[in-house]
Amino acid sequence: MPECKTHDQNPYRFWGISDARLEQADRLEEQLSPVFARLEAIRAWNQMRVLRAMQDARLSDSGFAGTTGYGYDDRGREQLEQIYAQVFEAESALVRTQICSGTQALAVALFGVLRTGDQLLSITGAPYDTLAHTIGLNGAGAGEGSLREFGITYDQVELDPQSGGIDLPAVLEHLRAETRMVLIQRSRGYAQRRALSIAEIGEAVFQIHSRCPDVVVLVDNCYGEFTEYQEPTAVGADLCVGSLIKNPGGGLAPVGGYIVGKQNWVEACANRLYAPGLGSHPGPTLGLNRSLIQGFYQAPHMVGECLKGLTFAAALFAEEGFQTAPKAESPRSDIIQTITFGDRELMLQFCQSIQAAAPVDAFVTPEPWDMPGYDCPVIMAAGAFVQGASIELSADGPVKPPYVAYLQGGLVYENVKLAALLACQRIRGGRAS
Ligand SMILES: *Cc1c(COP(=O)(O)O)cnc(C)c1O
Repeated sequence: MPECKTHDQNPYRFWGISDARLEQADRLEEQLSPVFARLEAIRAWNQMRVLRAMQDARLSDSGFAGTTGYGYDDRGREQLEQIYAQVFEAESALVRTQICSGTQALAVALFGVLRTGDQLLSITGAPYDTLAHTIGLNGAGAGEGSLREFGITYDQVELDPQSGGIDLPAVLEHLRAETRMVLIQRSRGYAQRRALSIAEIGEAVFQIHSRCPDVVVLVDNCYGEFTEYQEPTAVGADLCVGSLIKNPGGGLAPVGGYIVGKQNWVEACANRLYAPGLGSHPGPTLGLNRSLIQGFYQAPHMVGECLKGLTFAAALFAEEGFQTAPKAESPRSDIIQTITFGDRELMLQFCQSIQAAAPVDAFVTPEPWDMPGYDCPVIMAAGAFVQGASIELSADGPVKPPYVAYLQGGLVYENVKLAALLACQRIRGGRAS
């Protein structure tokens, strides 16, 4: 007779997780239950909003078919965009597989709005790395068609060093007659800063619009979707963009990006993405409608799994003496968790353990390499169903002091928990401290 499985089996023992570590995990989960409850409340709220939007759009099977060629009159695409607009509390949405990354979505929004002589003002310090070329910062992007080559200038205001929030007095001082667009990055990205809450973004938008009503506020919402009760467009942002291989694709979208916001600006972006005059009319979906729609349907759930997993990892590594940001119990506005190792070997072991817990490519060992565009080697652990998808669990970081690993994503709580336990056991051994 095969042994009958009972509830007291340690399911993580196949990876060598000790009973002592699992007991530590049980205790931490018990302690974290109020935090988990808070995250589950956000998840339920967003899940109901998405469901409601799908019903309001009268979604049906016929929308999943999709189009080829020019892609005119694509019913499913139109319904998906209506659903996005409703959930983001925005006038209009462009959700397209022709946008293949967050960087591209941001570039489309920047070039869609800005014209020669205009100024772009970033109010959250240096923007995400990949935008250096798009904007033309410090000589980057020369000859590549950067904003700078089109005569669009750039200025930035650093985050307030004390609070880590937007330095509003400095922002108001920096607004000029030529400032056409203000860029806000919600997530920490790969910088040692914190994510901004929706309340903080709303306050900044209000102050900027009170002073300069015509300034277009663009929020880089990458990694932020469904981590709070609202999105930036609900608190006044004119445009808000993100990638579908992050949060809103729910792990199912194989490609895509979105731009939501004021109707005239979204249409300006469509004219940039396709061609002036074509606007949002073309855009074949090539059979991907169902993945994009179902992905959006399950996105709040996936983000909830991810946030619970990251919360667990933060608590575990804090207990083992490492610095974590955000802390387990802190509010979150993105799906990134940093853990500071202060030691090269520990950081590498951490990333390698995350890889070893993945459903895909668990058998490979990531090593640091000289990735173009970085001033030091970078290590990247990812075993995802969609290449580069960071709604799926991954860990990476520049291999230099203070040896900070960025842990992000995770579609399934138990998998994030396993990854954290595996890393912890590799670094600290089988006996809980
Ligand atoms: C991921 C990300 C981007 C860029 O997205 P890609 O899809 O990698 O091009 C931009 N901003 C932030 C904050 C991001 O997290």
